[in-house]
Amino acid sequence: MSVWLLTNASADVHRAPGHPERPERRIAAAEGIRAGAGAAVLEPAIEPADEEDLARIHDPAYLAILAEAESRGGGWLDPDTYVASGSVSAARDAAGATLQAALAASGGEAEVAFAAVRPPGHHAARGGGRGFCLINNIAVAVAGLRARGMAERVAIVDWDVHHGDGTQAIFDDDADVCYASTHQAPFYPGTGWAEESGRGDAVGTMHNRPLAASSGDEEFVTAWQELIGVIESFGPDVILVSAGYDAHAADPLAGLAVTESGFETVARLVGALSGRLGHGGVALTLEGGYDLDALRASASATVRGLLAGRNASGA
Ligand SMILES: [Zn+2]
Repeated sequence: MSVWLLTNASADVHRAPGHPERPERRIAAAEGIRAGAGAAVLEPAIEPADEEDLARIHDPAYLAILAEAESRGGGWLDPDTYVASGSVSAARDAAGATLQAALAASGGEAEVAFAAVRPPGHHAARGGGRGFCLINNIAVAVAGLRARGMAERVAIVDWDVHHGDGTQAIFDDDADVCYASTHQAPFYPGTGWAEESGRGDAVGTMHNRPLAASSGDEEFVTAWQELIGVIESFGPDVILVSAGYDAHAADPLAGLAVTESGFETVARLVGALSGRLGHGGVALTLEGGYDLDALRASASATVRGLLAGRNASGA
C-alpha cells in the first residue's frame, strides 16, 4: 500500500488578504492525507511543469499574461482570482506535482498519489484562469501522461462542488477523455447541465450530474454509483480525480451537505474500479474546500476509502 503525497510549499506565497483560497488549505489537506494513509507516505520533491507541458493545454498569449501580471507584482484575473508575487511558480509546481502524481499512479509506483497543491485548476480554460484557478493542473497531467505514452484513454472524476468548466471545455471534443462531475447547480460557474455531453466524436464522454442545493451523502453517493458504471464502460487506462472538498456540509462557500463519510464511500468505489481495471493506482489533485477541518477530515477519508476499495478488489 504505497501512498505518495506531493505538496507544493512554494504555494504558500500565493495569497491575498482575506481570500478563502489560502495557504492553510494546503497544510490541512496534507495532514489529512498523511493521517488517511495509516502508514508512512512518500513525499517526493516537486518538479515544476515545464513550458512544453503548459503549452499542451494553455494558449501562449495567456501564459504571457500570467508572467506579466507576476512581473508587475501581482494583479487580478477576475474579481475572484489573484496573481501574487510567486504565484506563477506556485502554479507551475501545482501542475507539475499533479503530473508527477498521475505518472506515479499510471506507472504503478503509487496506489494513491495525491497532489495537495494550490492554486487549484479546474476552472482554468485554455485561454484564461478564473475561479481561483491559474493553470488547469489536471488537464496538464492528462496531456503530459499521453505525451509520455503512459495513457491513451483517461477518466477524470471531479467531485468538487463547482462544475469544472475549464476541464470540460479543454476536453469536450476529445473522445479519449471521459469527464464525470457532480456539482451544485444552479451555482458558479453556471455550466455542467446533464445535456452537456461532449461535442463531435466526443459526444457521450462528458457526464454531468448537477445536484440541488442541500443534497447530501445519499444523493452524492447515488450519483457516483451510476457514474462509476459509466467510467467502467469507457475503459480508461488511468483515473485522475479533481478532489475538491467544498461539497462538504461545513464549507462556507457552497450549499451541499456531503460529509467525510460520503467522500470515503465514493473514494472506495473509485479505488475498487481502478483495481478491477488493473490500474497501478489512482491520482488526485486538490481543487476547492474552504473549511480547514472538513478539508483535513475529507482528504483523510478519501485516502482510506481508495485504499480500502483497491484492497477489496484484490488490487
Ligand atoms: Zn470548488
